[in-house]
Amino acid sequence: MRGLMQHGALTVDKILDHAARWHGGREVVTRSIEGPIVRTTYGQVHDRAKRLSNALLGLGVAPGDRVATLAWNSGRHMEAWYGIMGLGAVCHTLNPRLFPEQIAWIAADAGDRVLFVDLTFLPIVAAILPRVPSLEYVVVMTDPDHMPAFAPAGDAPHFKGLLCFETLVEEHSADASWGGFDEETACGLCYTSGTTGDPKGVLYSHRSNFLHTLITLQPDVMGLSQRDVILPVVPMFHANAWGVAFSAPATGAKMVMPGAKMDGASIHELLETEGVTFSAAVPTVWQMLLQHLQATNGQLTTLKKVVIGGAACPEMIIRAFHDDYGVEVVHAWGMTETSPVGTLSTMTEELAQLPYDQQMPYRLKQGRPPLGVELKLTDDEGARLPSDGTSFGHLKIRGSIIARAYFKGAGGEILDDEGFFDTGDVATIDARGFMQITDRAKDVIKSGGEWISTIEIETIAVCHPKAAMTAVIGVAHPKWDERPLLLVKLKPGETASPAEFLDFLAGKIAKWWTPDDVVFVDDIPLGATGKIDKKLIRQRMKDYVLPAVAATAS
Ligand code: ADP
Repeated sequence: MRGLMQHGALTVDKILDHAARWHGGREVVTRSIEGPIVRTTYGQVHDRAKRLSNALLGLGVAPGDRVATLAWNSGRHMEAWYGIMGLGAVCHTLNPRLFPEQIAWIAADAGDRVLFVDLTFLPIVAAILPRVPSLEYVVVMTDPDHMPAFAPAGDAPHFKGLLCFETLVEEHSADASWGGFDEETACGLCYTSGTTGDPKGVLYSHRSNFLHTLITLQPDVMGLSQRDVILPVVPMFHANAWGVAFSAPATGAKMVMPGAKMDGASIHELLETEGVTFSAAVPTVWQMLLQHLQATNGQLTTLKKVVIGGAACPEMIIRAFHDDYGVEVVHAWGMTETSPVGTLSTMTEELAQLPYDQQMPYRLKQGRPPLGVELKLTDDEGARLPSDGTSFGHLKIRGSIIARAYFKGAGGEILDDEGFFDTGDVATIDARGFMQITDRAKDVIKSGGEWISTIEIETIAVCHPKAAMTAVIGVAHPKWDERPLLLVKLKPGETASPAEFLDFLAGKIAKWWTPDDVVFVDDIPLGATGKIDKKLIRQRMKDYVLPAVAATAS
């Protein structure tokens, strides 16, 4: 027997409809690319997004067509998203931090027909246009006064024209109908950065994004409220800004969009002038903010909570926010394939009773999954491993916000017999259910058959007062196969000896995890999603030999 409740397709256009109807006056504030702070409301965003839908229809965009964006977080970017998705077209967020060749490859693979672009990124578009044969129109996200001169860097017979965002908004009516299609309809496309092999597209559905929104709104997840003022530093082009472009309008929270400026001073100014209560970003952004606050004796008078993820969060960040500024840090884990929120280190009732210091080991872990997300750990053969906090295994994940295949079948079958997706991460899960990422599977160090967590060593080492950044890689060892090597980029003007870092690690990690050497470097490279690029580090260090090994060889 079937239930007798209404169906109501879970499509994301309903999120902005709701925001406009019930929170229509709530603000969306942007530090614009042109310079000034621009203030709009959910009511206006809704109206202008509908006008863009009509503009896209006028350009011949049909349901299922891919329309790309190459843009910072802004009110206009929100309008483009909803204008595209409301029609049943697919909003493809391109990551401007990738190399132009990669962007061209991705846009061509996706078959993007129209591209919305910020002024900042127009040179990239000129460079890639000849190599994206599907691309017909480029919409510059600005007003007529700021429209630039533009020419593709080569033959692009498919290119039909450069259009102005504000002119399109002005010239079209807001009378567009949204939704009315199946909730499984594709609505967003985002490629993983492809550190191994070609990038692969994750194709979100309206339903998966709608469910992800409901999941993230839970108090133990992001716990957003209409009374919040939210500043997503995490970009809309990287894993959907962790869903904030949906969850903020869903609750009617005010949004504050940082545009192109993500340095400590610019973020601090917006946090204070707009009364921000909640923010989300990767650890490096918060490190820059904390350095700025310390240098200027700045305060955080309204901020209550920050979600930190995308890379492991070092203890010093959690402590600085808590001890010096009274801000709660929630450490989170996820990936493009998981929409992206997968786990959060929210304290349980039992842990919340403990003194803060005793909570810290759990706050440093990536935490527990919300309803709708299932996790398991397996060995190399796929057999389940126990949740004992020490067994390292492959982290696998299942649920209706998790990818079941990549766009156009890239990579083939990606689920195991039980329908779980292999995240490519290695983790432990403890008796309280707290998951801890120990490594990407390809970065883990196998020393004498046992696994060493590079992430754990580097997040401890980076708390050394002289360290700006740290990375650990495995290097060849004749007896143990691999041993850890610690690379340190010091803060400007600092000098240090390897022993200072080894002493700092002593007692904080197992003795046999102690790096065999410490090398000071000028640069620790980051990839396009802000993570340490270990592939490049390994390349740079390919001729390095451990001192002890060199000594025995000579
Ligand atoms: P890409 O793989 O394209 O860089 P993602 O942003 O999807 O992009 O990367 C997801 C990966 O980032 C995860 O699989 C994991 O390795 C890493 N990651 C995300 N959050 C954390 C975290 N809190 N701690 C450690 N690693 C993390």
